[in-house]
Amino acid sequence: MSNKAKIEKFKIPKEVSRVTKALKDAGFEAYLVGGCVRDLFMGRKPKDWDITTNAIPEDIIPLFPKTFYENKFGTVGVVNEDTNDSENSETKAERETLKIIEITPYRVESSYSDHRRPDSVEFSKNILDDLKRRDFTINAIAYDDESGEIIDPFFGIADLARGVIKTVGEPKERFFEDGLRILRAVRFHVELDFPLDSETEKSILENKEILKEVSRERIRDEFIKIIMSPRPMNGFLLLKKLGLLEYVVPELEEGIGIEQNKAHSFDVWTHLLKALQHSADKGYMLHVRLSALFHDISKPRTRRWDNEAKQWTFYGHEVVGSRVTKKILEDLRFSRETIDKVVNLVRWHMFFSDTEQITNSAVRRMVVNVGTENVWDLMDMRGCDRIGTGRPKENPYRLRKYKAMIEEVMRDPISVGMLKVDGKNIMEILNIAPGPKIGQILNALMEEVLEDPLLNTEEYLNKKIIELSSKSPEELKALSEKGKEKKDKEEEKEIKEIRGKHYVV
Ligand code: ATP
Ligand code: MG
Repeated sequence: MSNKAKIEKFKIPKEVSRVTKALKDAGFEAYLVGGCVRDLFMGRKPKDWDITTNAIPEDIIPLFPKTFYENKFGTVGVVNEDTNDSENSETKAERETLKIIEITPYRVESSYSDHRRPDSVEFSKNILDDLKRRDFTINAIAYDDESGEIIDPFFGIADLARGVIKTVGEPKERFFEDGLRILRAVRFHVELDFPLDSETEKSILENKEILKEVSRERIRDEFIKIIMSPRPMNGFLLLKKLGLLEYVVPELEEGIGIEQNKAHSFDVWTHLLKALQHSADKGYMLHVRLSALFHDISKPRTRRWDNEAKQWTFYGHEVVGSRVTKKILEDLRFSRETIDKVVNLVRWHMFFSDTEQITNSAVRRMVVNVGTENVWDLMDMRGCDRIGTGRPKENPYRLRKYKAMIEEVMRDPISVGMLKVDGKNIMEILNIAPGPKIGQILNALMEEVLEDPLLNTEEYLNKKIIELSSKSPEELKALSEKGKEKKDKEEEKEIKEIRGKHYVV
């Protein structure tokens, strides 16, 4: 069964080879294994480096200056403190992957009586035991970075070459040991764009209920990886095809075949997937992707036929949808922060954005509702919503105009409030009672500061207050008017700049 070979050597970072060498110098075996070997064969940059060895934690820890060991799987983290410093962002990201290198002793597959976690962790002296317990053939290749030796007992390299995801050993057995592997198959499908091997796929269809036994936290972690992959839409199509949606997010199934009105080319389900896919194409963050996926989740439940208008209505779907989204994310044990953000975006996604019909105050209301810190996420999500509808343009004139209006209502207004002195100061300095003179002096000061912002200091303005107080009432009034005009002009200029930035008038 053993399939040993030697190939041309991969280039391995010195931080990694230093670790394998230390293990070998102490008389142990050491191999790179799992995702990093798979990535090397695919010509990708590994996200992290895993090493497997016949040493046990007690042997490993003394070999390195700084380690941590706080898990029940025997994994020892070696901390690399002196990774090469460079400001180049690519090498910076790479350096992150080298900060902690994990070493895990060879393990044998032990029984998973609850189909979730091994009952106990049993170490082995044989690399073959360790490769045998791994999920897919492409993840079960060991590589000796010193000699270039490859151990590939399940022909993972061939499966990488033909591009297929296939369990190590009998699929049913492997899925019964750990039901999460079913979802991991979908995750690798979207990350690598490989189909599932037909036996593996058939077995998933037959044994999918095993997913029920898997903890929601473990499901969430793979669910996030599917969402964050380059092809989340394909992931959900596969989940549907394999009948797995009911174990992940059953609510999504309700949208299948739910037709909408003419403006929509797709049913609710396809619309949500297309919105999600667009959020991935744009590289948006998790919470925006999740809100794209869930924004219309409750359209099926709120759909009513309007006999007069002869069309469907979905009144309140954003309110119901935000509640359903909260339930889904809580059930998957998402963090409070993510839940709050996504629920908020779903709740407020139905804003009217026809710029020919709305005023700044409607835009202001939208901003207050969703919160200034979330406005641009909401706009990104709106872009996904549009594309998901099947309309060709993501950022048409009206949407750009709407964005310009948002910036207009969110910008700090130009006012005497920006001065380093206020009316109270003036009353104190001049020892006068409240009256129109105070406003006039403030406006006159504003005129100067708008002309030269460097003059906005207490010292200069205090001096200026005394100077202005000696002017005649007519002169002061004229200066005040000039200040107001200047303010209007500056505001016009700012708004013009904002509109120019969004290519609208
Ligand atoms: P990534 O690059 O996304 O981290 P990965 O292949 O490294 O992908 P991990 O979840 O980090 O995925 O797992 C590391 C390795 O551990 C896998 O390549 C696989 O060999 C093994 N593995 C992880 N989870 C399981 C599991 N549930 N059952 C069997 N083997 C597993
Ligand atoms: Mg990994």
